[in-house]
Amino acid sequence: MSVSRPRLKMDLSSPTVWRSDGKNDPKATEMSSLACKTLALSQGATFEDRENYVARKLKNTKPRPPITSWWGLSGEVYWFQLILLTMVPTVGLIGAYYTPLRWETGLFAVLYYFYTGLGITAGYHRLWSHRCYNASNPLKYFLALGGVGAVQGSIKWWSRGHRAHHRFTDTKLDPYNAKDGFWYSHIGWLIIKPRIRPGTADVSDLARDHVVRWQHKFYFPLLFTMGFVVPTIIPWLFWDDLRGGYIYAALLRLTFVHHSTFCVNSLAHWLGEARFDDKNTPRDHVITALVTIGEGYHNFHHQFPMDYRNAIKWYQYDPTKWFIWICQQLRLASHLKTFSDNEVRKGELTMQLKRLRQQQDHIVWPQDSNDLPVVSWESYQKQSAERPLILISGLIHDVSTFIDEHPGGAPIVARYIGKDATTAFFGGVYEHSSAAHNLLAMKRVGILHGGMPHGADDRIIPPSQRLWVARYTELGSSSACSESEPSSTE
Ligand SMILES: [Zn+2]
Ligand SMILES: [Zn+2]
Repeated sequence: MSVSRPRLKMDLSSPTVWRSDGKNDPKATEMSSLACKTLALSQGATFEDRENYVARKLKNTKPRPPITSWWGLSGEVYWFQLILLTMVPTVGLIGAYYTPLRWETGLFAVLYYFYTGLGITAGYHRLWSHRCYNASNPLKYFLALGGVGAVQGSIKWWSRGHRAHHRFTDTKLDPYNAKDGFWYSHIGWLIIKPRIRPGTADVSDLARDHVVRWQHKFYFPLLFTMGFVVPTIIPWLFWDDLRGGYIYAALLRLTFVHHSTFCVNSLAHWLGEARFDDKNTPRDHVITALVTIGEGYHNFHHQFPMDYRNAIKWYQYDPTKWFIWICQQLRLASHLKTFSDNEVRKGELTMQLKRLRQQQDHIVWPQDSNDLPVVSWESYQKQSAERPLILISGLIHDVSTFIDEHPGGAPIVARYIGKDATTAFFGGVYEHSSAAHNLLAMKRVGILHGGMPHGADDRIIPPSQRLWVARYTELGSSSACSESEPSSTE
């Protein structure tokens, strides 16, 4: 399906574009030079692109000294985070060994896991880090409290890091750079101080959000209340299970929610398929989606970060998307952002074409007619006497390895040695199959001087090469820089 739109007629080969009234239009000249600069960028890059920015930043940043001793290591550890991330699961597991699990507490722990997890995925991530939708105040407070119960820092701190992750993905400025290894991106970055200070990202919009300011200001009391007190007290008050609440709903639930989020930085950059772009490490996988409340379609997410969805297919697991959609139905959320299907499909098609190109590169193709020797009629006649050569559509084919395999029998082929078999091959005797056309093209050995009929591409190009995956550098230069139609302004 093509989209019809007025054609922009512009001759980019000329430095100046002239208006039809004969006056020079400086705006058009500027546009023309901009278009050529854009083209130059895409072809070789002289501008400061992201890599240059990162390289410049790294050059001007003094790295922390390498850790050379155990004593030196102690000064390089985030102790609060190390204690939290080791003590919570340790005490939780030992406690679980001595504490029977009541079904009410188990169910509550799972529900509280989803609540605090959604605080991160629907709140910290899609609402505040990426502004994927607008939330009403009750929803904002609900998510801010849930997120603080996941004990992963304040919204402001978390979002700044996450925006830097998107801005500097897979570079030394990425706070949880997947290129530094699975475990570093999973948990190492939270425990060991980075050798290079991570890049920054703008969060000035969050400073204007009163819920973000409130949560940042009261972060520690809120963390203590939502992370530990509430999940302990509810089982105690309603079914008299104080210890079970503390062990299962507070400590073990927190361990699960921690590693669930950490998997977005590690597993989602390691496991699965690059369905929309393979420039960087983010991947799509259902397992990651299952353990991260729907954040597993991370390749899509890095391409379309402001889309409120991570999974775009109805059958893919993305409860965070479903939650946001339900909130919209309840008038608690609005302005849910989605990228247009057209743009999404471009990425998908590009990756499909890349895979097809790889397949194409592993197939042996016939020689291009431009690379074949040009042979005179006399020479063709002479050489046909020595080996079975047949002329079809101006191309000379050596059928010595095939003549005995010909499904129609060898005599019929032999009848055309040294002759022009074009009509016979194209239906005069038999309307050959596409496979036969493809095979014939493999037998090309020469081109008859003056023998190739003009405009016979559909006969010369075998069916297997009519839809060809070509890189833009392989296309004709004329199609790369100017419209085929002459400009009406000339
Ligand atoms: Zn990521
Ligand atoms: Zn993100």
